[in-house]
Amino acid sequence: AKARGRNGFSFYAPSMTGEGVERLRLETFLRRSIEKDEIFLNYQPQVEIDTGRLIGVEALVRWNHPELGLIPPIRFIPLAEDTGFINQLGKWVLHEACRQMVRWQQAGLHVPKIAVNLSAKQFERGSIVNMVADILSDTGLEPQRLQLEVTESVIMNTGDAMVFINDLHSIGVALAIDDFGTGYSSLAYLKQLPVQTLKIDRSFIKDISTDVNDEAIAIAIIQLGKSMNLSVIAEGVETDEQAAFLLRHGCNLAQGYLYSRPLSSDDMLARWQK
Ligand code: C2E
Ligand code: CA
Ligand code: CA
Ligand code: CA
Repeated sequence: AKARGRNGFSFYAPSMTGEGVERLRLETFLRRSIEKDEIFLNYQPQVEIDTGRLIGVEALVRWNHPELGLIPPIRFIPLAEDTGFINQLGKWVLHEACRQMVRWQQAGLHVPKIAVNLSAKQFERGSIVNMVADILSDTGLEPQRLQLEVTESVIMNTGDAMVFINDLHSIGVALAIDDFGTGYSSLAYLKQLPVQTLKIDRSFIKDISTDVNDEAIAIAIIQLGKSMNLSVIAEGVETDEQAAFLLRHGCNLAQGYLYSRPLSSDDMLARWQK
C-alpha cells in the first residue's frame, strides 16, 4: 500500500518510517542472499503417529544474514513475494530440496517424500510446470517423491493455479493443501483438483483438549479427508494428548515438535539413517 500524500491519511507511509527504511535494507540484503550463500533449508520430519516411521519431510527455508542473524521466513517470504524475488528464491528452494533427497539417498537415508511450499506469485509466470520438470530431470528425483504445498488462497485467488496444478499432477508431482481450514474455501475445488493430502493447520491442533470448536474442526477435516480418499496430516503437534486425539479420530500422520523440530540436512542423517 502506498501513501497518498504527506498530509493525507496517516496510516502507513513506509518511505518515511523507520520500518520503511528497515524494510528497504532487508530487501537490498535479500536480493543478494542466494549468491552470498546465506539461504539454506531445514527439514521437518513427517511421521506415522502409531509407528513413528518417517513418511517424509517438509523443506523450510532459512536465511542467515551475517549482521542481522537468522531471519524467520514470516519476515522475508512476504517481502520476497512483494518484490518478485520469490521466483528466484522458490526455484532455489525447489532445486535444493530435490538435490538433498538424492544426496540422502546416496548416503543411505531413504526419505520417502519431500514437501516444498509454493507461493501464489510462483504461479503467475506460467512456467512453473517447466521449472519443476527441469529440476526433476536435473536432479533425477522421481516426481512422486515431490509434494508441493499450496494454501487454499493460492488456489482460489490465483488465475491459472488450477490449470498449473493439473499440469503438475500430469507430470507425477503430488499436491497438498497447506493450512487447510484457515483460508477462504469453497470446498468445491477439492473435487476438481488432483490433491492427495490435506494438512490440518496448527491453529486447530494447538488447543485440542481445551477448545471444543477446534476439536470439532479437526475431526471434520479428518472425516472430509477420509471420505474423499485423501491423506490427512496434522501440523504443529506438540503433545502426546494431541497425538492421541488425532489417532483416536483416525488421523495417523503428523508433523510437529513432539516428533522433531526442523533439522539441518546433516542432523536428518544423524537422526534417521539406519
Ligand atoms: P508452514 O508451511 O505452515 O510451515 C510450518 C511452520 O510451523 C514452520 O515454521 C515450522 O517450523 C513450524 N512448526 C512445525 N512444527 C511446529 C510445532 O510443533 N509448533 C510450532 N509452534 N511450530 C511448528 P517456519 O519454518 O518458521 O515457516 C513459517 C512459514 O513460512 C511456513 O509455514 C511457510 O508458510 C513459509 N515458508 C517456509 N519455507 C518456505 C518456502 O520455502 N517457500 C515459501 N513460499 N514459504 C515458506
Ligand atoms: Ca507448509
Ligand atoms: Ca502449514
Ligand atoms: Ca500453518
